[in-house]
Amino acid sequence: MAKIIVYNNDTDRMEVFHRAENEPMPYNEGGTLTVGEFRGKSKSPTLWTTKRVMEAWNATRKAYGAPIPVGYAFRRPWEGGHADQSQHYAGTALDSGQALTNTQRNRLRTLAQQLGVWVYVEPANLTPTWVHTDRRQNPPACPGGGYPSLRRGSRSVYVLILQDSLNSAGYAAGELDGVFGEQTERALKNYQKARGLAADGIAGCAVWRRLMAEVVGNGRKTGTVD
Ligand SMILES: [Zn+2]
Repeated sequence: MAKIIVYNNDTDRMEVFHRAENEPMPYNEGGTLTVGEFRGKSKSPTLWTTKRVMEAWNATRKAYGAPIPVGYAFRRPWEGGHADQSQHYAGTALDSGQALTNTQRNRLRTLAQQLGVWVYVEPANLTPTWVHTDRRQNPPACPGGGYPSLRRGSRSVYVLILQDSLNSAGYAAGELDGVFGEQTERALKNYQKARGLAADGIAGCAVWRRLMAEVVGNGRKTGTVD
């Protein structure tokens, strides 16, 4: 059983679901993406994504017209496995098509590009044996890509990355709710002070670079909250 936090892009609200591993993800149509497929090897009791990601998957799966094997979508930053700007930590990326033939996978990749429902589809030369699609939120705080700037009042799956990473680094941002409130701001300012960064309570490029460099792949810590 997983707790799944979904950012509903239509209402600007964070929604919470509880689903078994073999049940479909929230907003998934036709049972084409289970909780277990979405989590892959992640052992986290809590997962997160957005309604738009599920809609993009539904459209892709419908257009492809046949089952699509999914390697994984989600991972917590401290579980590692990807670079520090990974959209998998936001729950906005899917790696799929691993068990397909090259021809099938190329059709899937082309389809995903043509549908226009994803923000980014990785080219075949970078990931030839799977198809990485993601519906990231732009613009990124850093020029080279990554996560958007966040501040008091922000609400998104990126706030969940921030809260999870601050907790993991020993700065108590409290419950993972995806809402940048007083406690998240206090934790962030304390983190900024401790690292010699401007304590403005805004998660911008410098904060993301520093924080993710510390947390990614570092394993579960005593401060980690689910
Ligand atoms: Zn990927």
